[in-house]
Amino acid sequence: MAIISAVLRAVLLLAVVAVRACPRLNEEPPFESLRHQARVNVSHPEVQKRYLSITGLSPQNRLWYKASIMYCYDTDTNARAIIEPFMADAWNLWIMAGLPQGTLTDPNGFAFVEATAAWCGDTSKKFLLITANQNMQAFTTPGWRAPSSRSTLSFDPNMGGGVRQKTLAILAHEIGHAWGMLHEHQRPSAWSSNDAFGGTASPLAAQVTFNCENLADYQATVAAGGVPTLFCKNRAAAQSLGSSAANFLPWQTFFETGYRTTQEGRNFDWSSIMLYDSRTGSKAGGGNVLVTGLLKLSIAETLVPSPADVSALQLLYGVVQARPLPCFYWQSCSPFNAFFHALLPQVCSGSF
Ligand SMILES: [Zn+2]
Repeated sequence: MAIISAVLRAVLLLAVVAVRACPRLNEEPPFESLRHQARVNVSHPEVQKRYLSITGLSPQNRLWYKASIMYCYDTDTNARAIIEPFMADAWNLWIMAGLPQGTLTDPNGFAFVEATAAWCGDTSKKFLLITANQNMQAFTTPGWRAPSSRSTLSFDPNMGGGVRQKTLAILAHEIGHAWGMLHEHQRPSAWSSNDAFGGTASPLAAQVTFNCENLADYQATVAAGGVPTLFCKNRAAAQSLGSSAANFLPWQTFFETGYRTTQEGRNFDWSSIMLYDSRTGSKAGGGNVLVTGLLKLSIAETLVPSPADVSALQLLYGVVQARPLPCFYWQSCSPFNAFFHALLPQVCSGSF
């Protein structure tokens, strides 16, 4: 023991000799600098190649302040009882995929938390309203909206067909919308420029083909006076008619400001949680709606956010997970901090 004690004392002496000059040992605030550095990394073109999202600049759809969404369950639709059993697990799909989780006070992660009852009871407050529907529908306003037009996520858990994994995937897709993600297949670069869709790809390079006539609401839209050469071709026209084709057709950035695409025509993400599979929106017994471009193959269902989905949100919000930082003994995060500061005066006075 005596030998060990002597060795420890020697090591301690060596350690404190190094700081005998007694510099100012202020707490270091490394997070901002690390965050800046990581921002540079995450802005690398490899990440920028894909994703379609809101810009955060449109007055209608903005980014959530400090990457924090507080949500409230709609009491009128009994949303808590219907959706809460899926909410935490759906959000966890994003976290498991690598999205850094934060808190309302932590700028280095994404916070997705339920607001207090008092907050939810005040209609002037900012929050995402979670509503339940029984129409086998899921729809979400992309990004943050002012309380006057209320950011909303509406969901029917029956959309998963009783398969929890699918229900969670659809809800995770909606959560992606809530943060500001748009559909991967609505990138103009995924569509042929030859088909009057507003696409920008050469016909051979188009990623998707759209079988509009297989939409569940195709006949109803035609019966209501919709002209297929318009609502099956132009997203804005489909939107004005209330046709589900608006969820498929490409955004036309020349006409619809507030959205952006990056690096058109490359790196389409077939594993994105924001991509429809071929059966999405199809009529009962009908064929595929969205298929691959040239070969017209079925598009598989995605069940978890992809790495590019996670990177896209991090890039959009400028939020990256801070690396685990070393805690030096002069910092309060160190378990030896109190011991060190107790020892410091003796070291500086030479009495140690
Ligand atoms: Zn969607």
